[in-house]
Amino acid sequence: EMHNNNVEKYDLQEKVILVTGAGDGIGKEAALTFAKAGATVILLGRTVSKLESVYDAIVAAGGAEPAIVPLDMKGATYSHYEGMCATIIEQFGRLDGLLHNASLLGVLSPFEHIDHGNWHDLMQVNVTAQFLMTQALMPALKKAKHASIVFTSSGVGRKGRAFWGPYAVSKFATEGLVQVMADEYEGSSIRINAINPGATRTAMRARAYPAEDRNKLKTPEDLMPTYLYLMSDASLDVNGQSLNAQ
Ligand code: NDP
Repeated sequence: EMHNNNVEKYDLQEKVILVTGAGDGIGKEAALTFAKAGATVILLGRTVSKLESVYDAIVAAGGAEPAIVPLDMKGATYSHYEGMCATIIEQFGRLDGLLHNASLLGVLSPFEHIDHGNWHDLMQVNVTAQFLMTQALMPALKKAKHASIVFTSSGVGRKGRAFWGPYAVSKFATEGLVQVMADEYEGSSIRINAINPGATRTAMRARAYPAEDRNKLKTPEDLMPTYLYLMSDASLDVNGQSLNAQ
C-alpha cells in the first residue's frame, strides 16, 4: 500500500517535530504520519479534546509518546513561544522539524465587505503568530543537526483570486517569509520550504466550497509523501521551495 511504503521510505527516527493545528484535517494526518515514521511529535492546537484523541491514536499505534501544547495562536504572545522553546529544549534537547499548518480561512467576501476584525484575526494567526513562533523557536531549531521548517501555502498564495481577500494575502505573506528566511539561512543547518496542499477533503475546504462533492477530493493521507519528504533527511539540500503536494 502506497502510504505505508512511503512511511518506510522516509525515516523520521530520532526526530522531534512540532505540528500546529494537529487536531484536525491535514495537521492531524501529518502528526499521525510523522509518528508512524518514528518521530516524537509535539501536538499544538486550540481544541484540547482533538489533540488528546490524536495523542491516543499515536500511543495506540505504538508511536513515541507525543507532547500536547494547547494554544490559541490568535491570543498567544512572544513570551508563550519563548516558554515553549525552553520546555522543548528541556524535554527533548532540540527541535528537528516545525510544520506550520494551522490557519484560518476567515469569511470569503467581496473586497468592500471585508470585515476589519476578521482581517486582523486572520493576519494574526496566519502570519504574525507564525513569525513570532518561528523566531522564538530558533534556539531549539539551531540545536538540531539539521532542522526543517515547513510553512503551508495555497494556490491563492501564488495567484490572487476574487473574494479570497485576507486569506489569499496571508498566504502571499507566507510565501514571502519562506523566500526571505531561505535566502538568509542558505548554507546553514536550517532549511525553510512551503507546501501547497491543493484541494483536500477537510473541514476548511468544505467551508470554502460547501456545494462540491467531497468524495472527489484528495484526502490528507494522499498528501503525506510530500510532508514526509520535507521533514526527512531526503530533502537536506532543498531550501526556499514551494512544493505542490498533489
Ligand atoms: P482545518 O480547518 O481542517 O484544520 C486546521 C487546524 O488548525 C484545526 O485543527 C484548527 O483547530 C487549527 N487552528 C486554526 N486556528 C488556530 C489557532 N488560532 N490556534 C491554534 N490552532 C488553530 O484546515 P486544513 O487541514 O484544511 O488546512 C491545513 C492547512 O492547509 C491550512 O494552512 C490551510 O490554509 C492549508 N490549505 C488547505 C487546503 C484544503 O483544501 N484543505 C488547500 C490549500 C491550503 P480546531 O480544530 O480547534 O479548529
